[in-house]
Amino acid sequence: MTVSLDYEDYDLGSMTWEEATEAIPDADLLVLPSGSVEQHSIHLPLTVDTLRAENLSRVLAEAAASRDRSMLRLPTLPYGYSEHHMQRAGTVTLRAETYQRVLEEVGESVAAHGAERLAIVNCHGGNRAPMKLAADRLQRDHDLEVYPIHWTDFAREQLEDRFGDDWGHAGDHETSVIELFYPDLVRSEKKEPQTTVADYEARQYTWFTDLTEQGGLGDPTNADSEFMKQVVEETTERILDALESDMAQ
Ligand SMILES: [Zn+2]
Repeated sequence: MTVSLDYEDYDLGSMTWEEATEAIPDADLLVLPSGSVEQHSIHLPLTVDTLRAENLSRVLAEAAASRDRSMLRLPTLPYGYSEHHMQRAGTVTLRAETYQRVLEEVGESVAAHGAERLAIVNCHGGNRAPMKLAADRLQRDHDLEVYPIHWTDFAREQLEDRFGDDWGHAGDHETSVIELFYPDLVRSEKKEPQTTVADYEARQYTWFTDLTEQGGLGDPTNADSEFMKQVVEETTERILDALESDMAQ
């Protein structure tokens, strides 16, 4: 995982510079998977979001190929903006401005080699705000089309129908995804309904520990990898529909 050694032919990391010279301008979309290293309660590993980004971008690149769209995948960015989880050990955060700069400089680099479009497959909510600012700079200053794909936005309806409102961090949904791709990484005996400490209606929380005792939301014992398999397939198609519709404008 992350800078994977089982590269596929759409992985930039597997190419030589001669191959990349052609592959970058030829690709319909460059794809940057973006995750985080942060606490995910007591039953999931720290790299949940990065593992999700890596696997969901693989499924996306493969589904794009079956529509005759070429995606060229950059190595996964494992770190994100996770300061709100720093109360729990193992969390590694970039400052928001550092994360923003990393995205900008990755975008600038691929634009310099002829990329016209960059999709960021984002699997961590904390990355949203700095990603927006990076996309502003890349589009206005570097003429690179940016498609921030917040994966769960395209799955939200299906997840809410099945799991209710509290499917988020380390809960029903993320546990289902890790059980689908890496079942051995889930500490099943530690799965338990997460204990709410506070549930603010208007106030912004300071640390994630303000909200939950174990570190997650919802009830991971509801996890269902078979259901998630279907959600992944359908969400991937919805994302491709959106990308194609935007690219046609
Ligand atoms: Zn997560």
